[in-house]
Amino acid sequence: MKRSLRTQMLFQYVVIVIICMLVIPAGISKLLDRQFRLYSSDRLLEDQKEAVRVLEDIYSSYGYWNKTTLSELRGDILRWPMVHAALYDPSGVLTVEFRRPMRQGAPRGQGMMNDRNQSPAFVRPGRGELVMSELPVSSDGRLVGKVRFLCLPFNDSREGLFLKKFNSHMKYAIGFMLIIAVIISFVMANAISRPILNVSKMASLIGKGRYRAEEDLKSNITELQQLIDSINRLGLSLEEQEELRKRLMSDIAHELRNPLTIIKSHLEAFEDGVWEPTKERVKLTVDEIDRLSGMISEVEKLTSIENAGRGLVLGSINLSNEIERVAMTFEPLFSAKSVELKREIEEGVMLAADGDKIRRAVENLLSNALRYTDSGGMTTVSLEKQERDVCIKVKDTGIGISDSDLPYVFERFYRTDKSRTRSSGGLGIGLAITKAAVEAHGGSVTAESSEGKGSTFIIRLPLA
Ligand code: ADP
Repeated sequence: MKRSLRTQMLFQYVVIVIICMLVIPAGISKLLDRQFRLYSSDRLLEDQKEAVRVLEDIYSSYGYWNKTTLSELRGDILRWPMVHAALYDPSGVLTVEFRRPMRQGAPRGQGMMNDRNQSPAFVRPGRGELVMSELPVSSDGRLVGKVRFLCLPFNDSREGLFLKKFNSHMKYAIGFMLIIAVIISFVMANAISRPILNVSKMASLIGKGRYRAEEDLKSNITELQQLIDSINRLGLSLEEQEELRKRLMSDIAHELRNPLTIIKSHLEAFEDGVWEPTKERVKLTVDEIDRLSGMISEVEKLTSIENAGRGLVLGSINLSNEIERVAMTFEPLFSAKSVELKREIEEGVMLAADGDKIRRAVENLLSNALRYTDSGGMTTVSLEKQERDVCIKVKDTGIGISDSDLPYVFERFYRTDKSRTRSSGGLGIGLAITKAAVEAHGGSVTAESSEGKGSTFIIRLPLA
């Protein structure tokens, strides 16, 4: 059965509170009961021994049981919770008995010790039976009698009554505390569940395309605030991706339309006989078709972004040779554009890596350097082994990247406005592929640039 977060939390809080409130007071009450019983039975025994001492003193002073003196005692003998005491001589004949005056509801005695050795039936309807105990009375080491005490049961003693009162007050206190605890639990469950519900609403709004719906949602719970921040970042990043995707779609449409329009107009001119299909004119048309297929292969590269970070085929590669080979492949392209390609490659640098992916990453950097550097410029590709990693740099003297664009160039589909206005631009995925490939090796790629002066892209790959 599905429950709301608030109900679930409320339920848990209340269960915890109930368990605590039943277990703790029950423990306290049991402990108190034990301690009070021990204390009151010790005290009772002391009082009874004291009474026996008084009787022994009287016997010692007279040498026999003086009934007149005994009958004056009462108060010295009977201390609460003793209600009755009977003194017997050694042959078991009742000598004297002491009684506490009875209040209503207090213990009643029937047939008080008339018969020899017969215990009196002090029974109080609806209450516990009186407790009987017996102690010997001696004088000069000789047994001169025994005294039998009747006492109120513990539950009717002062301590017992106090405990009873305490327990009943505790029950009220627990009931009251339970009500308070349920109210507090409700408030707490609400305080935690409300922001989570808001976050969930926020996520569903983002799902519907409202990326900045609840930007100022706040929580004073650290983890919740982190969740809100993450969802906000997710929203912003989705918004950026959405923007880039829209831009890409309009770029593709725009870039495809140009060559198509040119091809169409050429072919129509040939068809109408307005244009003679000379070799140069057909070549012009074929060039446009080449441009078109170049763009389509760029679109195909999109899937390479995903593949770049996956399925590494690691092997021990000679990185120096790999980069040398890439540079050699690019050499003719650079010289065709009159851009100097300089190499500063440290020899014999070995690395455990996926050769294909590393080559691809460097190719993208070199092809950008070529694309964004005008004739007469220079590009330097270098490789240097450092203590913990290897560092590959591609530095150019090209158009550079503005500070506002620099943080985004590794995002897929991101192209600076300058590159979009250039005829030679790609689709903005080369650097995303490079980044994915390098990060799959546990490395990093960064860019430094100064607009109008040139850019440097730095790949670092860990040696271990
Ligand atoms: P593209 O295929 O458009 O070159 P990339 O992902 O390789 O896409 O690069 C993203 C953007 O970064 C480019 O559109 C360009 O604006 C900028 N950029 C990349 N490399 C350079 C460079 N060497 N010089 C200037 N701008 C660059």
